[in-house]
Amino acid sequence: MKITMIGTGYVGLVSGACFADFGHTVTCVDKDESKIAAIRGGKMPIYEPGLDGLVAGNVAAGRLGFTTDLAEGVKGADAIFIAVGTPSRRGDGHADLTYVYAAAQEIAEALDGPAVIVTKSTVPVGTGDEVERIMREARPDLEVAAVSNPEFLREGAAIEDFKRPDRIVVGTDDPRATAVMRQIYRPLYLNEAPLLFTSRRTAELIKYAANAFLATKITFINEMADLCEAVGAEVKDVARGIGLDNRIGSKFLHAGPGYGGSCFPKDTLALIKTGQDYDSPIRIVEAVAQVNDNRKRAMGRKVIRALGGEARGRKVAMLGLTFKPNTDDMRDAPSLAIVQALEDAGADICAYDPEGMEAAAALMPKVTMVSDPYAAAAGADVLVLVTEWDVFRALDLKKIAGLMTAPILVDLRNIYPAAEASAAGFTLYRVGGVDAA
Ligand code: NAD
Repeated sequence: MKITMIGTGYVGLVSGACFADFGHTVTCVDKDESKIAAIRGGKMPIYEPGLDGLVAGNVAAGRLGFTTDLAEGVKGADAIFIAVGTPSRRGDGHADLTYVYAAAQEIAEALDGPAVIVTKSTVPVGTGDEVERIMREARPDLEVAAVSNPEFLREGAAIEDFKRPDRIVVGTDDPRATAVMRQIYRPLYLNEAPLLFTSRRTAELIKYAANAFLATKITFINEMADLCEAVGAEVKDVARGIGLDNRIGSKFLHAGPGYGGSCFPKDTLALIKTGQDYDSPIRIVEAVAQVNDNRKRAMGRKVIRALGGEARGRKVAMLGLTFKPNTDDMRDAPSLAIVQALEDAGADICAYDPEGMEAAAALMPKVTMVSDPYAAAAGADVLVLVTEWDVFRALDLKKIAGLMTAPILVDLRNIYPAAEASAAGFTLYRVGGVDAA
């Protein structure tokens, strides 16, 4: 199959490279010239484990190409995927569909034959109808099917997720589009692909329902963590105790500083907006978004409490800035709100993150970025573990304690057992633990 990917970001680049790896011929298009130039020069615009090798191999094999020329890119394509951003619209939280509709318009004008237009971006119910309308209006001469195919990959494990997804959701009732989509995804499976065909509107909603459910699960355990602190219980054991029940499952039950990233915050807001627009409010998700929003700044207050209530002029060392490990994505990362809360209280912040510092520096200009965890800890009054990167899981705590003015650790990911921290001389504050403040 000949596939074109419009938008070469986290989703477009990974999906394009994986489709090429399965033998399809793929052209990735992006209007960002510097991005395309960098990729062509062998430099990935994002950090994603394994991506550079996957891209290089498929470019060398002649199956994967990159261009800024959309018209050139869509020529002769069996399927054209739209994988552009759908950020929150300023002001009302609705998904901003400007990029999706602009891409659809450009594709329509450039088409040179019948095509299947596949929306991979996360878009609210009804967006596919509008994409179809744009296509029909611009090109009444062509047979065009608009399909929904939401993406479920996780940054940091994107290649594995794309190649071995739990399910592939395809929303269409068009027989030709159904056949094309089967053909595109068939190589991913030796036996039958876990393809779930639904109506287009249903497929669009599945993506939001999935993300809202996961955000709810995280927020649920975070509120349980607060209750654990209040009553003297241990949230890790609560999570294990409920997670071993197969009906609940153990994933997404890690208490922490609140969810962030490029998807959960904006997708929960967009779903809330859709619910309100259709007079069918989703009150659980409304509560989740509100609780999570408050939580991130509350983590800043937790650090201030660990400092004895006064942060002015104190030095805070932060380990991890990205919203999760193995990505450089800083979009809506909890660290942003934590830094803001601490800076508002007069603290000086020094931080280290293995991949996120370049993106973070632009968003938190007053934070001093350093080259390793030990440099961050030097002279600090408190150490805050924000993102659970592997390199932070086995730090030499004794050495770090010796570098600090006072060995206080606020472990927002519950990595370090109380015994280990106190053996190294630390006063430990955790999330949802009996030893927490
Ligand atoms: P991104 O911002 O990393 O990439 C989008 C790219 O599209 C940018 O490089 C931009 O320059 C390009 N673009 C925009 N308009 C264009 C046009 N008209 N022509 C060509 N290129 C254009 O975004 P992302 O993180 O890859 O997300 C894309 C979509 O996938 C969003 O809807 C998101 O919600 C969804 N999604 C993201 C993830 C994730 O983990 N990042 C996972 C699942 C779904």
